[in-house]
Amino acid sequence: MPSSPTFTATIEKIVERTPDTRSFFLRVGNGQKLSFLPGQFLSFLLPVGGETLTRAYTIASLPGEEECFEICLNQVDGGPGSSYLFSRKEADILCFTGPWGNFVLDQPTDAEYIFIADRVGVVPFRPMIARLLTAGGHHTARLLYAAPQAGDLLYAAEWQRWEGQCASFSFRPLIAECEPEEYAIEKGLLPYVEQHFVKEVRQYSRRFYICGIGRPVLLLRDLLRGAGYERQVVKYEKW
Ligand SMILES: Cc1cc2nc3c(=O)[nH]c(=O)nc-3n(C[C@H](O)[C@H](O)[C@H](O)COP(=O)(O)OP(=O)(O)OC[C@H]3O[C@@H](n4cnc5c(N)ncnc54)[C@H](O)[C@@H]3O)c2cc1C
Repeated sequence: MPSSPTFTATIEKIVERTPDTRSFFLRVGNGQKLSFLPGQFLSFLLPVGGETLTRAYTIASLPGEEECFEICLNQVDGGPGSSYLFSRKEADILCFTGPWGNFVLDQPTDAEYIFIADRVGVVPFRPMIARLLTAGGHHTARLLYAAPQAGDLLYAAEWQRWEGQCASFSFRPLIAECEPEEYAIEKGLLPYVEQHFVKEVRQYSRRFYICGIGRPVLLLRDLLRGAGYERQVVKYEKW
């Protein structure tokens, strides 16, 4: 990574989104603003057990929210980074570098955008879709979002509101109550994507963005590429 100044930010507010997922609203010091592209992440420097862990968290804020911005994360069982953040309180200070990353929305074109999210992997799509819906032009956007239960869907009211307001946006939650990897692969995203974008119409002008945790992301990528979609239209980020 190229070098970046280290920022400090105060935790202004913590919001519990589900029993194991929280948003942290952070304000950068000295009136600084954080200029970011939708989809980029920050690298947090976390003092844990006498060392500094680096953990990436995507900026969940909408474009333009640059002074007080949001990250959203779930607590991973036994995970030192997420557990450290979950032990933080309002007014605590966090350090980070960034923004980083190439998993960003390109200049919108008149295409069909398909955003495929596995659990908390929906976070980068919030600023991306917001940008797309205000960009003008003739593109459409679909969000396919897999989660174990309806109550785990993050920003659900917002997706529904956007769907009601914008004819060009649709939101498709995929709920399956079973083990995370199993639901993503066998019961959720994979069969849906195969049915709609591989077996039915293959429209090679589509643009896919995939984000989630572990192997399902790679399986989805390979499914689409194997169906003939070009590498550059199948973008993915695996956490
Ligand atoms: C570019 C990038 C952006 C990211 N943005 C976010 C974000 O916005 N929100 C977020 O919650 N996480 C995000 N992550 C994951 C985050 O950086 C940490 O990996 C995660 O919080 C686990 O760290 P840990 O130290 O608690 O556990 P670790 O011990 O480091 O991780 C243990 C395992 O958990 C898996 N894992 C990673 N993320 C998750 C997760 N969210 N839920 C369940 N298992 C996970 C990892 O693949 C790893 O196998 C991002 C990762 C990358 C690479």
